Amino acid sequence: MAKRIVVAIDGPAGAGKSTIAQRLAARLGFTYIDTGAMYRAVALWAMRAGIEFTEMHRLEQLAAAAQISFRPGGGGVLLNGEDITEVIRDPRMSEAASKVSTVPGVRRELVEKQRAMASATSVVMEGRDIGTVVFPNADVKVFLDADSKIRAERRICDLKLRGGSVDAATVAREIEDRDQRDRGRSTAPLMQAPDAVYIDTSGLTLEQVEEEILKVVRQRISNGKEPHTLE
Ligand code: C5P
Repeated sequence: MAKRIVVAIDGPAGAGKSTIAQRLAARLGFTYIDTGAMYRAVALWAMRAGIEFTEMHRLEQLAAAAQISFRPGGGGVLLNGEDITEVIRDPRMSEAASKVSTVPGVRRELVEKQRAMASATSVVMEGRDIGTVVFPNADVKVFLDADSKIRAERRICDLKLRGGSVDAATVAREIEDRDQRDRGRSTAPLMQAPDAVYIDTSGLTLEQVEEEILKVVRQRISNGKEPHTLE
């Protein structure tokens, strides 16, 4: 059986992780896994069930019971069979996910699910702790970053495309708050793994970032040779 490969992509909100990870997965023929969507899914269920973010044990139970799956090819995310792809993109869900993700028991349950998802197939997995906690031995680790102003601009653009009303200052503040919470929490904070390749995407096109990462993939998984999956 061919060796399964894990490409781990971490970084703050707006660094370009989702877009890049989806493109890479399509290019490599790997499964794309958006772990942020999993935290958003648990947050959504908690909000609907009226569970407070302080009720850690109940949140952990939800995370354990949640059946989360991804449609192939970046085609969306399902929670207990319901398509929640759009509803979890609301800015309120970003904040809720960030709060839910500070609960150690929630992280434990979701990390277990993430490892199971990568047990049968090669993956491009993106999040905050993939290279540090979920797969410390990942074949390829990338930390994507960008100037905070540019990250806010990208998020504003995203929200406008989705048809939401957008207040630029509020979006910038929310991104900053969320980053601080993600970097400052005690369990699995957002940080670069020592062996991750750091890429600042601020002045780069999508194509340039993709090529940069593909170079790393080629070096790390084929000792410089061009495997047939990486045309
Ligand atoms: O990536 P996305 O912005 O969708 O993630 C939403 C939130 O989920 C993040 O702000 C972060 O708090 C949390 N998250 C996490 N660990 C991950 C992925 C996301 O804590 N691996």
